[in-house]
Amino acid sequence: MSELTQSKLSEVLERFLKSFKSKSGENTYEIRISRMIAMGGKSLIVDFNDLLIYDVDLANRLISEPDEVLESFVTAAYEALRTEGPSYAEKIGKRNVSVRIRNLQDKMSIRKVTTEHLDRLVAVTGIVVRTSDLKPMAVEAAFKCVKCGQMAHVDQTKMMLKHPSGCEHCDEKRNFELVEKETKFVDYQVIRMQESPEELPPGQLPQSFDISLVGDLVNAARPGDRVILTGVVRAEPEYSQGRGKLRLFRSTIEGNYVEVMGKEPEQIQLTKEDEALIKSISSQPNAYERLIESVAPAIYGYETQKEAILLMTIGAPRQVLPDGTTIRGDINVLFVGDPGTAKSELLKYAARTAPRGLYTSGRGSTAAGLTAAVVREKNGMMMLEAGAVVLADQGVASIDEFDKMRTEDRSALHECMEQQTVSVAKGGIVATLNARTSILAAANPVFGKYDDYRNIVENLNLPIPLLTRFDLIFILKDKPDRARDEELAKHILEIHRKGEYVKTPPIEFELLRKYLAYAKKTTPVLTPEAEDRLLDYYLRMRSIGSEAMITVTPRQLEGLIRLATARARVLLHEKVTEEDAIRAVSLVRRMFETVGVDVKTGKVDLGVLHGKPLSERNLLELALDIFKQLEGRDKKSVEGKKFIEEMVSTGKMNNEEATRMLQTLNRSGAIYEVKPGFYRKL
Ligand code: ADP
Ligand code: MG
Repeated sequence: MSELTQSKLSEVLERFLKSFKSKSGENTYEIRISRMIAMGGKSLIVDFNDLLIYDVDLANRLISEPDEVLESFVTAAYEALRTEGPSYAEKIGKRNVSVRIRNLQDKMSIRKVTTEHLDRLVAVTGIVVRTSDLKPMAVEAAFKCVKCGQMAHVDQTKMMLKHPSGCEHCDEKRNFELVEKETKFVDYQVIRMQESPEELPPGQLPQSFDISLVGDLVNAARPGDRVILTGVVRAEPEYSQGRGKLRLFRSTIEGNYVEVMGKEPEQIQLTKEDEALIKSISSQPNAYERLIESVAPAIYGYETQKEAILLMTIGAPRQVLPDGTTIRGDINVLFVGDPGTAKSELLKYAARTAPRGLYTSGRGSTAAGLTAAVVREKNGMMMLEAGAVVLADQGVASIDEFDKMRTEDRSALHECMEQQTVSVAKGGIVATLNARTSILAAANPVFGKYDDYRNIVENLNLPIPLLTRFDLIFILKDKPDRARDEELAKHILEIHRKGEYVKTPPIEFELLRKYLAYAKKTTPVLTPEAEDRLLDYYLRMRSIGSEAMITVTPRQLEGLIRLATARARVLLHEKVTEEDAIRAVSLVRRMFETVGVDVKTGKVDLGVLHGKPLSERNLLELALDIFKQLEGRDKKSVEGKKFIEEMVSTGKMNNEEATRMLQTLNRSGAIYEVKPGFYRKL
């Protein structure tokens, strides 16, 4: 086989294109070529398996010598195109025709690509983390001789622009002028692919590769897309300033085909036995309790939090209305708590079990942080980079140290948590990326420990609008409690002693992962009984503290529906029952009875979640009145110090409370800081 010359190789490949028949007896590639002509396509997509069936040696040679075989393949495809549609072939020209190979047998993780693969065809799987803007790349440069005006056309294949070696007409050797109008360009883009979080060995940093894409492959993938990429591994010399090429090379992949993987999280493979096992678990009488008990078995207690994790991992199906509006199905959960209360452990666990789970800290380790960013590469290229919530699209993003997130992320997260997209517009790049992600966040209280004498908003350094986008919020407190402390200590000691769980979880980790992936596929519908239950609770909550401001919004009703639906999904039910609704209400009620209580009155007042409990509302009005007086007719900016003085002088609050009031106004967006210490009304 390897003796075949280039032209012989083209003939063999032409015969393959002409004669290969699919199982149903169709001439696969003749059909594809006619379709190319009809649709104005430039690429012929070849399934590697077809080649393997047709000629094993040829298929192997494609892997080991892709440059030769692909070149012959293009010749063959162009010949076939000429036979089928001579005028179309003429119009696009051979240079613009590509043969793309999909479905290679071995699909490697990026980590496995080594020097052994140099100049070979490989298929790698991973997630696209960055994409550059498009650049025109010259493939055939036109030059004019400065001396006599003679034109010369030079094929471009290397990184550096190649000039003519001399004029064909006169004796000029050096001076040529590039004629852009006559130069032929193709679109060029660089994308960066990284190991998917679920392929990453524990404790390792993800590895990445730069992939160059040309022609109709550009924009085939967006940041956050999971892809299978076919390409040829190359070594690019690295340069040292002033010293030329180094002995060190950098591997890159020249993209041949990009396949964006389907919408469903597909990483978890289920066998028939798994499916049977999953169904039998769900049909046991105490299935729900057993599932909750199986969540994070290394962590003692926290049944409510574990239930929340279970529900959020599965979520509710997202709904698309006929007009294209979508209703979020993802459930967002926040843990606020003292240090050492296993928040981080719970978050890491959730990221490990969830299909497409990802754990990150609010500080973020990359430029893109939690959402997305536009970054400038060393070579001056602008790249769009996806952050955690985009990478965990259709999965769970566990965000630790949520209170420490960057300001850019704060505003972008609003969009993500409500619209489920992340938009960026910077440096000429405008993009909207999908972020249909459930967020499990953990935050530390401002004062180190949760202060029971203050409301949740004052305990947290988080913008209020962001807080209201969580369906469930829990406070984890580290309070000395003799009995619980002893139990917890025993639990931890036992785990350390044996290196295994104290009580074997009813469902072991791998099976639970499969269970969760499977449960995500069901789409239960609400029954009238469940609807009544949810509505009843919602209306009751609406009537609490209904004076000047309504604190329970339809958002909470949607949250209730999501939770009830998720519970039905957990049990693989087709219908959301009354019992599901009762469980959902019970979770939400538990949350309201802790974070929704105004510490000043001891009563549930959901105004606290908006930073405006009833007990403070009158003071708030007072504060706004004073602010108005201070800014006067001509609306000057108000000095914070002055405002506090005025507030204290009313006798209604002390210095500290007035300071806090100023902060609350600032954080809620009623006023903003124009310059340090000075404020203006919005
Ligand atoms: P946080 O993020 O809330 O500050 P961590 O998740 O880092 O706390 O937990 C600190 C340590 O305490 C971890 O090793 C964790 O396993 C242990 N720990 C705390 N609470 C529990 C618990 N309820 N059960 C088991 N281990 C716990
Ligand atoms: Mg922590």
